[in-house]
Amino acid sequence: MTAQRQREMVIEYEKVQTIRKRARTTLSTCEHCCDETDSISLAEAAELFETGREELLHFIRENNCHYHVNVDARMYLCVRSLLDKMQQLIKVRRLPAKGEKQ
Ligand SMILES: [Zn+2]
Repeated sequence: MTAQRQREMVIEYEKVQTIRKRARTTLSTCEHCCDETDSISLAEAAELFETGREELLHFIRENNCHYHVNVDARMYLCVRSLLDKMQQLIKVRRLPAKGEKQ
């Protein structure tokens, strides 16, 4: 007869928290979407997502999100492409909760 050894496992998971914030956008033509979309400055978007401009710019370039540089030499992001990419990445990372439909 062999003695059973007790073992322990540790599971780490993230919970989703909904945070509502507001930001000013301007309607402009996105040449990649071929449509008028909301755009937001890089600085305002970084503040909105509580991240640094460099980190957000890295995300934008890495994920082929749309942006343009305006006549005021400021970078503006296409909100549609930014949110679409974020949603895609969230779906890849997230399993549905018990009873939740996907
Ligand atoms: Zn776009």
